[in-house]
Order: sequence, then C-alpha cells, then structure tokens
Amino acid sequence: MTTRTLKTGAAAALLLSALVTPVSAAEAQTETERAELTNPLLYAIAWRQTAAEFRALYYQGFALAQLRVEQALAARKASAGNDTRALAVITDVDETVLLSGAYWGQLIAEGGDFFDDATWDAWVPNNEFVASPGAREFAAFCEANGVTLFFVTNRDQGEATFELALGNLRAAGFENVRAENLRVLRQTSNKEAVQAQIRSDYHVIASLGDNLNDFARRYYVTDVAEREALMHADAARFGADYIVFPNPTDGHWIRAIFGESEPAPTEANRQVLRAAAVGR
Ligand SMILES: [Mg+2]
Repeated sequence: MTTRTLKTGAAAALLLSALVTPVSAAEAQTETERAELTNPLLYAIAWRQTAAEFRALYYQGFALAQLRVEQALAARKASAGNDTRALAVITDVDETVLLSGAYWGQLIAEGGDFFDDATWDAWVPNNEFVASPGAREFAAFCEANGVTLFFVTNRDQGEATFELALGNLRAAGFENVRAENLRVLRQTSNKEAVQAQIRSDYHVIASLGDNLNDFARRYYVTDVAEREALMHADAARFGADYIVFPNPTDGHWIRAIFGESEPAPTEANRQVLRAAAVGR
C-alpha cells in the first residue's frame, strides 16, 4: 500500500465516521426521545411559545374590547340617564387573561403529547401563569371607567379551586381583582347560569374568551361541522360582543374532534388527531 492510498484510506475513514456518527447518535436515542421529536403538540406549543403573532392577537383582542367599552360609555352618556344599569364585561380566565405556556412546555419536556389533568392540577398552585398581553391594561381601563370586569372560569382543583384562581390572577398582576368579581365553576363548564345572573344586574358590553363556550353553551357540541356552522351563524357577533383569543392546545375544539375535552394519550387518539389534520 502506498502512502497516498494510506492517506486516502484515512480520509475515507474519517469521512465515513463523520457520516456515520449522526446515524449512530440517532440510533442511540431512546424511544422516549424519538417520541418527543414526533410529539403532535410540538408545532402548537412552538407557536404559542415563540410567535409574536400569538401575543399580537391578544393586544388586538383587548384593543377591540376597549373600543367596545368606550362606545358603551359614550352611548351611556348620550342616553342621558335612561339606562341606569352598571356596565360590565365578562372574561374567561385561562388562555384569555392568563397564559399557561410554562405548563405546556413542561408537559412536552416530560414526554406528554396530550393535556394531562394530574400534572395541570399540580402546576396550577405554582403561580407560573402570566398575564396575556394587554389584559392588565384592559382591566385597569375598566376599573378607571367604572366598568366591572367579571372573571368567570370553570376549573377544578378541589376545595382550593377558588383561592388558587384568585391567587393566580393576583400573582400575574391583577392585584385589584375582587373576590366578588370572580366566579369559579367546579362542577360544570356551562357558564350560562352565572352569565345570566350577571346580566340581570349589569349591562354586559362584551364577553372575552378563547373557547366558544365562553360566549354561549349552544356551541358545546361534539360535531366539528356543526360547531363550525353555529359559529358562522353568529358571524356578526365576533368582534362585537364576542371577542375571541387564540388557543391551539385546548378547549372544546378538542372535544369536537375526540368527543371529550381531555382525550387520553393513546395510539387510537393519535390516529384520530391525524385524521382531523388530514381532513378525513
Ligand atoms: Mg379559557
């Protein structure tokens, strides 16, 4: 063997090693690591964690909400005292005024690819929610103008649910939220009774939420096309008295796909998700 062939052989070996190394590393990946990289939640979470557009939609929603409040205040002034009911806005809490991005990041880091109620319940008391962009400013605007902002949420972390929700809001910067303006539903996601009770005392200018169920229970259907049709039938209300915020990870749109709001992380459900994405 000549020196030249030796050198060529060594270079070839180096090249081969460089080519082979990543494959070997990939082969060394555990099943869990591979599953993490094909986690169906990755795109949705990456979007909510990094896209400026995600946060811009919150500014947009609260700007629209403030415009509606300003219009209601002007109309109230013009009506010369004919309508004496106090003004209010009803808002949902999770993914509307509070964002739980850290939970979803943690869920993925732990290998989860579907929402997990047990880890959620353990995460809620950590007070890692952050106020959505524009939410605190909107709350301050309402307060400064005598408009009551009601927080209506369905959550269930046991007996401590109400105090946890109040603590989450205060820790995220809604220091002035009053307990009497927070309504927590533990047994049902149907908010209509509470909404009706608020409406009996207040003129509700608008409702804010990331789930159509935050506006009306009629959307609580398990058929994707029916839910879509109900939304289109109410087209004129969106941006008027219904102000919607984005949520790519949870809500009743999930229920419409799977038939339940918190589907189990099974192969069958991964196939259902795939079919929903593919459109068949
Ligand atoms: Mg919500």
